[in-house]
Amino acid sequence: MVSKVSGNILRSALLNDVPKCFGNTRNLHNNMEKKRFYDIIVAGGGMVGTAMACSLGVNSKLSNRKILLLEESPEKKWEMKPQYSNRVSALGGHSKTFLGAIGAWDHIESARFKAVKKMQIWDANSDAVITFNDENLEKDIAYIVENDVCMSAINKELKKTPVEVVYGAKIKSYDLPNEEEYRKNGLVHLHLQDGTTYSCNLLIGADGANSKIRNTMGVQYLSWSYKQMGVVATPTNNIVAWQRFLPTGPVALLPLTDDLSSLVWSTSSDEAKMLLELNPESFWKNYPRYELVENVTRRLSDVMATILGPTVAAGPRQLQPSISSIIEGSRAAFPLGFGHSTRYVGHGVALIGDAAHRIHPLAGMGVNLGFGDVNCLQRKLSEAAYGGCELGDHHYLLQYESERQRHNLPRMIVIDALQKLYGTSAMPVVLLRTLGLQLTDALRPLKKMIMKEAAL
Ligand SMILES: Cc1cc2nc3c(=O)[nH]c(=O)nc-3n(C[C@H](O)[C@H](O)[C@H](O)COP(=O)(O)OP(=O)(O)OC[C@H]3O[C@@H](n4cnc5c(N)ncnc54)[C@H](O)[C@@H]3O)c2cc1C
Repeated sequence: MVSKVSGNILRSALLNDVPKCFGNTRNLHNNMEKKRFYDIIVAGGGMVGTAMACSLGVNSKLSNRKILLLEESPEKKWEMKPQYSNRVSALGGHSKTFLGAIGAWDHIESARFKAVKKMQIWDANSDAVITFNDENLEKDIAYIVENDVCMSAINKELKKTPVEVVYGAKIKSYDLPNEEEYRKNGLVHLHLQDGTTYSCNLLIGADGANSKIRNTMGVQYLSWSYKQMGVVATPTNNIVAWQRFLPTGPVALLPLTDDLSSLVWSTSSDEAKMLLELNPESFWKNYPRYELVENVTRRLSDVMATILGPTVAAGPRQLQPSISSIIEGSRAAFPLGFGHSTRYVGHGVALIGDAAHRIHPLAGMGVNLGFGDVNCLQRKLSEAAYGGCELGDHHYLLQYESERQRHNLPRMIVIDALQKLYGTSAMPVVLLRTLGLQLTDALRPLKKMIMKEAAL
């Protein structure tokens, strides 16, 4: 006889509005299938997928689960080279906390990173500038970490967990179940190029911006190319973090050491080709300036100096840094685009990182949003396991999706709008953004609020 409570749970579960907490009781028919069955498979071992696998592996509520990470490239020997890599990420405070929780931050600290304590953002078409520094911030702005150092740190912790990892595992195709199929057997199947097939209750798609998993899910993906390349390089100079909005795209210099920095320059494909060859001393150009904008800027400065006092209104300025040389072989260029998946989850599947969203690097948010996805998804899976539910339970996956979309989407829209706002030298737009930047710079509480909201 079915009790009233379990009858209600059964009815609600069939109506798909509460978790289906029947325990992990799927039937697998033969031994081979059992051997290649995992509770969770993470597909894609970039920074986000590897962090996902590690955070599942260290989670005590998931310690009895079989977890597998599949990565198509061969295993890399992570050794720290004396020369800094040209691929770095500006990690926010939340990413630092997350990496700390999985044990990886200690390795980053004992390898190398640079805390950003000051940052200055300029408009190339005017003198408008906004400065974030120790006076208006309580915490470090960001931490500049080489991607290789970050990967090495996460991998060191991943190795301590029971998570299995297969490198050189290119996944050719996926059989993703529909709702009814998933309810019947709760399995997702993955087919590798070498003929191996794996099955799991939950597939986590961390296979990057061109995600095959997202394509197989058949979800809508809103995307466009910025028709820009991100040129990266390692110049020698001594600066605070510095960013300038040029009409062709933003350029940022992020400090690595006292005399090295990392350059990320978003620009047209033609200019990117030129920058890959150009003598660094010829990097900076002059951009159109307008008398009206300069007059209005000066008057506004005077008014603010009267109201707020001269130092608050003007603030310290870092002049445009000169770039005398660039470390040989450190220049490279990457295509830039926007992408957002309307759904992050399906039956037995969830997308994380660039597979779910791709963002312009002007605010250095990409991997930070990815680590945020990881943290949220592992929390939801932990709750599902604690509640005796299937790990692929749609109820919990939907919670993950809505929490992350509410967080990611507004930030992505703001960054895209900034990219467009600064992508023009039209005088009225230059005037408006100059006034906006100047006013924001003068208002400390507003700056604090911006940094808090931008925190990832
Ligand atoms: C110039 C530039 C500067 C940036 N700066 C910053 C910054 O300062 N801060 C920041 O937060 N972000 C930054 N980003 C963004 C950041 O680099 C990305 O968001 C991040 O690397 C995405 O990681 P991911 O693991 O989601 O995807 P990826 O790094 O693309 O990893 C996907 C992985 O999946 C694997 N894979 C794909 N297909 C398959 C398959 N079929 N089978 C098996 N494996 C597969 C791939 O081999 C790869 O290892 C920048 C990006 C650019 C281009």
